[in-house]
Amino acid sequence: MQKLTPNTMLLRGSPHTLIHTGREGITVVDPGHGHKRAKQLQKETSKLDKPLHNILLTHSHSDHSNNACKLGATRVLAHPHELPPLHYVPLRTALTFGLPLEEGEVLLLKPDPVPCAEPLSEAPEGVEAIPLPGHTSGQLGFLVEDNILYAGDSLFGDQVINRYGVLYHMDTFTAIETLERTLLPRAEEGILIIPSHGPPSRGPEAVKLIDANLERLRDTVEAVKQMLTQTPLSIPQISAGLHKRYGVTPSPTSSLLFETGIRGILAGLLQRGEAEPAIVEGELRWRTPA
Ligand SMILES: [Zn+2]
Repeated sequence: MQKLTPNTMLLRGSPHTLIHTGREGITVVDPGHGHKRAKQLQKETSKLDKPLHNILLTHSHSDHSNNACKLGATRVLAHPHELPPLHYVPLRTALTFGLPLEEGEVLLLKPDPVPCAEPLSEAPEGVEAIPLPGHTSGQLGFLVEDNILYAGDSLFGDQVINRYGVLYHMDTFTAIETLERTLLPRAEEGILIIPSHGPPSRGPEAVKLIDANLERLRDTVEAVKQMLTQTPLSIPQISAGLHKRYGVTPSPTSSLLFETGIRGILAGLLQRGEAEPAIVEGELRWRTPA
């Protein structure tokens, strides 16, 4: 447990969990997944001598949300767009992996439904909800004490960038805008930026991490555009090309996640008139418009 200020702590993990004590009670951001994390949270919050009032979810992904209904919080809140996938697991897995699965090895962890989640209309006292769309459409960051921003999966630590190659975002173009317009100015103000998966940083170090994320996302978009100028390609062919580019050994899970990210990039390119679908030899492929 890392004490950030007298009222705010970070339980390190992947994802990290933020614990903030306010006048009305305790607020927990992203309670994570697994029995061990739930027990740790119960232990730490019981020491604080205040009720667990709010659980805030940055987004619906199971690694962030699985424990949300298991801790006895008064309320569990998320952006309205995140509620359908929180409530209904096959929708969550269909959006992320392209397969409406309730469980299975390919998902890495078993998703739990989060039926208690409600729409966040107003953030708890002392907390500001900041829209950070791209990774998912309803992703929120939470600013506490005016200088600590828990930024969810809007950016990733260096290790994640190097290990996974293609950064998972449902809509990469929107994720780039979020980094440029929302996170970068906050980092330049000197606010502590906490990615869910990676070390917290502030000032020049935070700016450097945002730049590294931007560089990778722009590189992925450019690589896809470049591939389509050569010959029409299917989504699995583009995925194979990106695995190679970033030196990642393909697995069923990495391929499913890459393909979701590639669909988001192709949708953006289609809207911009920079890619178009075509049937070649009976197969859906993508190419640069003539
Ligand atoms: Zn996520």
